[in-house]
Amino acid sequence: MHTGTISVQTENIFPIIKQFLYSDQEIFLRELISNAVDATSKLKVLASKGEFKNELGDLTIEIILDEAAKTLTIRDKGIGLTGEEAEKYLNQVAFSSAAEFLEKYKDEANIIGHFGLGFYSAFMVSARVEVKSLSWKEGATGVTWACNGDPTYTLEENDKSERGTDVILHISDDAAEFLEKSRIEKLLKTYCKFLPIPIQFGTNTVTNTEGEGDDKVETTEEVPNIINNPDPIWRKQPAELTDENYKEFYQELFPYSADPLFWIHLNIDYPFNLTGVLYFPKLGNSMEVQKNKIQLYSNQVYVTDNVKDIVPEFLTLLHGIIDSPDIPLNVSRSALQADSHVKKITGYITRKVADKLHDLFKKDRTEFEQKWKDIGVFIKYGILSDEKFREKADKFVLLKNTEDKFFTLEEYKEKIGETQKDKHDKLVCIYTNDPEGQHTALEAAIAKGYDVLHFDTLLDNHFLQHLEYAGQNFTFVRVDSETPDQLVQKDETAEAVLSEDDQKSVKEWFESVVQNKLAHVELKGMSPNDQPVYITRPEFMRRMKEMQMIQGSGLGDFPESYNVVVNANHPLIAEKILNVTDTEEREKLVSHLYDLARLNQGMLKGKELTAFINKSLSLI
Ligand code: ADP
Repeated sequence: MHTGTISVQTENIFPIIKQFLYSDQEIFLRELISNAVDATSKLKVLASKGEFKNELGDLTIEIILDEAAKTLTIRDKGIGLTGEEAEKYLNQVAFSSAAEFLEKYKDEANIIGHFGLGFYSAFMVSARVEVKSLSWKEGATGVTWACNGDPTYTLEENDKSERGTDVILHISDDAAEFLEKSRIEKLLKTYCKFLPIPIQFGTNTVTNTEGEGDDKVETTEEVPNIINNPDPIWRKQPAELTDENYKEFYQELFPYSADPLFWIHLNIDYPFNLTGVLYFPKLGNSMEVQKNKIQLYSNQVYVTDNVKDIVPEFLTLLHGIIDSPDIPLNVSRSALQADSHVKKITGYITRKVADKLHDLFKKDRTEFEQKWKDIGVFIKYGILSDEKFREKADKFVLLKNTEDKFFTLEEYKEKIGETQKDKHDKLVCIYTNDPEGQHTALEAAIAKGYDVLHFDTLLDNHFLQHLEYAGQNFTFVRVDSETPDQLVQKDETAEAVLSEDDQKSVKEWFESVVQNKLAHVELKGMSPNDQPVYITRPEFMRRMKEMQMIQGSGLGDFPESYNVVVNANHPLIAEKILNVTDTEEREKLVSHLYDLARLNQGMLKGKELTAFINKSLSLI
């Protein structure tokens, strides 16, 4: 037996390893299994080159839990280690890379994959680590390397007869959770689901039935519990795959989810290597529940499901897998964002997604429109948050009107170009975000021949502002704002038939009833079929208020100004009121008309609403 000292510098690395990223202790398993996979893959390469001439045999990696002995063993049938190699790789290479890693990141808990800690991460959970190995090399003898988590190690020969390496972890008392079967199973499912070599954890009992009726015989059988799919679809060529394959894989990733709408197979090897599949989930109007459903892999090894530094924010609504060995994993998040590969990767994914959407749009417009409910939010989010995406998406983002017809921006410009312009030649888009609540105004606008857009997502407020500022020559007004005013359609606003004196009186009567300093009464000569009195809000003020409510800035009681528009051509105004001579009677009438207008806007509440109802009852 040989005893040695691991080339330690001044400080002892083991206590640091033990404490490092305590919450992420569990990565030790991924690190050790990755090593086992590497050792196995290397052997396959040697075999393919003809350097290794013997049988490869079954290369399954086994994870063996022995609760009684308090050990967890990772067993591979890979290239193994000779005594010399164990000294070199475990004492020097592994140690110095771990030391270097820790030195760099001691104070930084926010490292993307904690990759790089490697073999020594075993000491985060072990009181003692033994490595029993037999090299693939002709005539090699087995060796046992062992270390108790202090700088001394032992190395001795053993009689291991099977090629490969057993890494035996004697789990320390404070890491006893890693002796629980369910805990290990869960970790394996997280980190090893798509590793390229089969990973076995114990066995499963399956029951086989043979024969029929009285002759029926049931036998049970133990079969290996293989926890991974070594051949996931993202490593295959898209041409080999059917739609079913993609859907099945989606279920494998996210069991019990509704089928995805469509997907993008990412596949590039220059100037960086990246594969993966991104799915468009059925989103509907919600954006919250769906995040954190893109998993990052590095050569089929799970890294993280937090990809917000690699994938543009809006794309995190997608679901799926990205696999790239070119994403640096042992760096801090800030360094990651500055990395040139990562920037290129981000750009590439964005472009692929935009191109896919554009393809769908060109290929089958009807289907694209049918899916709008789910992809609309996503596309608008992308336009708002990512300039590169915006450049492409302007061609396929759609506006929907109240008849459920869809228009691209260009098409819509064409549609309203003649009829809906303001005095600055801007195109005025009239919209509703609540067809029920804004029903009266909506009907009036449609009756006048205007087209009204229907916005129905939370993002639309931002989206329409974006369009206004993005040089699209659009201005947006909600259907219940001072819409017709802004439009240059002179024939719509017929001249008031009332004399100036009468107009002045009507205005004064209403002003005395309205009694709200922020309300502004105005008379307009409109169609006798329009409402006699209605309320509009300045678009700008209303949007300010809405923004404040969304941002919850505590300024929710921002005063609300509005216009009371009196239709001078309505018979109730032009004839009835003017003919009432009794002052009290007239006041009642004016007040009732004003209340009706407020009722229409949902502005009558509490006391005022009760008073209004009582007043109405007394009139019946
Ligand atoms: P890395 O894998 O990044 O090189 P590690 O600390 O994980 O660093 O491992 C150090 C070295 O130890 C590896 O490069 C490899 O040569 C050797 N090694 C670790 N585990 C195994 C194993 N299961 N089989 C063979 N060699 C191994």
